[in-house]
Parts: sequence; structure tokens; C-alpha cells
Amino acid sequence: MACRVDDPTYELKIEKFKVGTAHPTGEVSVSLDHIIHRIGIGTDLHRLEPGSGLRLGGVDVPHDKRLSGHSDGDIVCHALIDALCGAAGLPDIGEQFPDTDPQWRGVDSTKLLEKIVERVRDLGYAAVNVDIVIHAERPKLSPMKAAIAERLAELLGLDAECVSVKAKTNEGVDAVGRGDAMACTAIAGLRRV
Ligand SMILES: [Zn+2]
Repeated sequence: MACRVDDPTYELKIEKFKVGTAHPTGEVSVSLDHIIHRIGIGTDLHRLEPGSGLRLGGVDVPHDKRLSGHSDGDIVCHALIDALCGAAGLPDIGEQFPDTDPQWRGVDSTKLLEKIVERVRDLGYAAVNVDIVIHAERPKLSPMKAAIAERLAELLGLDAECVSVKAKTNEGVDAVGRGDAMACTAIAGLRRV
């Protein structure tokens, strides 16, 4: 079916469009819940400093260093916020939560993410899925990935299977590789609600 996204009857045509495995009756329906209308990408990097309190995606991670920053430095929440803002056409995290504003000092970044999820919903969108890559030399994050995905899914109102969390080292290269910083890349797909 050929139809353009800027065609005002686009959604109507999509609703009538039948795809999928043939049903014995010949009737096959498609859910609009997983059709992505917009996508966005976000990245973040924070320096590491000695101390406890490392938090990634709203989950406390045992480590001898923590992320520095005006907020709690949660790079996963920050990258995800920018991905959601990019997809929804909202200003970036720095504009919405300026680091010169004392109200965001030491804030739990999941609170910021919750605000953005609400703003995105006010614009008529909700996340379909998100994909996240954490760049960290240490600690080993494999045991934490499922917990981070579950927490983010909870914050986004998604099933955990719709949140992918991957972790990579930087092969000893650059600030991330030396253990001086951690970084995150996130991508988010939005549907209409
Ligand atoms: Zn940040």
C-alpha cells in the first residue's frame, strides 16, 4: 500500500490495511499500538569521581566510583530523555532542566524522566520501544542489564521486552576506556496515543 505520512487519511488507511499471517477466515488485523510515528536519539557522558552512589537507569550499581554532575549523573536517564525529546520535538534536557537551576541539584533523574514521559504524552505520543547502549569500562554491567531494563520499562509504561539495554567497554580507549567517564546512547520510537 502506498501512502504518505503527511496524507491526512494516513491513519485511516493504516487501520484498513491488513497484514500478518493469514487467518483461516482470511481476516488478519494489525495493532496500531506498535506503529512508530517518530524516532529520536540521545547521548550523554559524565565524568566518574571516587565515591559510592553510581546509578544507571534508576538502578543503584555497586562500584567504587560515581558519576559527577548537577543531578545524580544518571547517563542512561539523560540519554533516554534526549531521545524522547528528540522524537517528540521537545527542547533538549539542558534547556528543560538547566544545570544552573538549583531545583535540579542532586535530583533523582528518574523524576526528570517521568516529567518528560508526561510531556511527551501531553503531545499525544508514547514510547513503543527504546534501545540503550551503556559505554563503561567498569564495573561489569551484564548482571545489571535486566534490572535496568525493568526499571526503565516501569517508568515508560512499557513491557520489559520493549526496552533493550546493552553494555560495551571502550577497549581501554579514551576517557571511557581509562575509567574516567561513562557514556550512553539511546534511541526511542514513539507511537500516537
Ligand atoms: Zn547527563
